[in-house]
Amino acid sequence: MTDGPTYGFDTLQIHAGAKPDPATGARQTPIYQTTAYVFRDADHAAALFNLQEVGFIYSRLTNPTVAVLQERIATLEGGVGAVCCSSGHAAQIMALFPLMGPGKNIIASTRLYGGTVTQFSQTIKRFGWSCKFVDFDDVEAVKAAVDDDTRAIFGEAIANPGGYIMDVRSIADVADEAGVPLIIDNTTATPYLCRPIEHGATLVVHSTTKYLTGNGTVTGGCIVDSGKFDWSANDKFPSLSQPEPAYHGLKFHETFGPLAFTFHGIAIGLRDLGMTMNPQAAHYTLMGTETLSLRMERHVENATKIAQWLEKDSRVDYVTYAGLESSPYFERVKTVCPKGAGGLFTFAVKGGYDSCVKLVNALEIFSHVANLGDTRSLIIHSASTTHRQLSAEQQVAAGAGANVVRVSIGTEDANDLIADLDQALTKATS
Ligand SMILES: *Cc1c(COP(=O)(O)O)cnc(C)c1O
Repeated sequence: MTDGPTYGFDTLQIHAGAKPDPATGARQTPIYQTTAYVFRDADHAAALFNLQEVGFIYSRLTNPTVAVLQERIATLEGGVGAVCCSSGHAAQIMALFPLMGPGKNIIASTRLYGGTVTQFSQTIKRFGWSCKFVDFDDVEAVKAAVDDDTRAIFGEAIANPGGYIMDVRSIADVADEAGVPLIIDNTTATPYLCRPIEHGATLVVHSTTKYLTGNGTVTGGCIVDSGKFDWSANDKFPSLSQPEPAYHGLKFHETFGPLAFTFHGIAIGLRDLGMTMNPQAAHYTLMGTETLSLRMERHVENATKIAQWLEKDSRVDYVTYAGLESSPYFERVKTVCPKGAGGLFTFAVKGGYDSCVKLVNALEIFSHVANLGDTRSLIIHSASTTHRQLSAEQQVAAGAGANVVRVSIGTEDANDLIADLDQALTKATS
């Protein structure tokens, strides 16, 4: 496909990055199941290793199937480049890696995926990094948390699991003032519902495991760069602005301009951390992206119907879906994710912990799994599973208290899903 900035989302999700295979004419993107690529000659090999010519060397770094997916996600997000990797959690480490060093910190929202809270509060300490968790609705508190060692601000556009909508623009302003990038985890919104770069985000990360693949088959992650951040504006990002000893003194920003972060992610991130996406996974995710907008529309339609039904039900205490008029985030949906508040929300069941456990056991169409963004409807009791490692206060702050279940509404018939919830709520609360 030629560059067509005027193509719509539905066209780009099928065609961006892809073209018929030059060797065979294959219309679908082949799975290039190969580890290495033959160099034309020794000069070609040297040029590739010097990053003077872009091409394929070894599949830990780049692979043609993965490259199509990278270009597709970058296009859908409105970024200049992207790096795919082995999982959403890998993407988060890969996004922070060029920015951080021992003693440096990030500021993150209190409302994040449970696994991310654990990664940021515990595991990154081993690298000498740290994280300050702040309520992102309190912009002044985010500003106050910035210090000389802060290197990034991190939040989720639609926060898993609470259905909280982040005012991306107001936090982007804080990041701009601090001279650090804003990283948005856009997993639960997808670029169909929210385009964080248009709201001022520098980097967008994804767990492609979820809606982008959409069928619960493969784990993957992606980091998209807006290309808009000036890595040389201050001395905070020496790995991008100064000679990088890990790449024979190359200055990434000077050499690659807006593509500095993407090249760094491949040439150093994937080369040395090795969190590579395999071509088979890229294939499944490419299949998923082709129907992204169609699925997201149905996810939103079903989630809205089901949230409205639950909200009126006397066995339910409250529903957090931001698409409900009763939600404090209802107005924010219109600016941050105008095509809808996604397919994910939580609701509180009368009877607390025990009722929640009975509910997940009694459901027949909904599967009890630790995943989201599948065409299948999924449910999880976060307090006893994904958010189990968190303290009771952290659970409540993340919207995952003991009386709360999270649903990821699928694309099945909404009436069937409502009937399933109805029978299970009866068993759970009688
Ligand atoms: C699942 C998820 C992650 C982690 O992604 P993995 O692919 O499971 O590593 C990160 N952020 C959000 C919002 C998620 O839903």
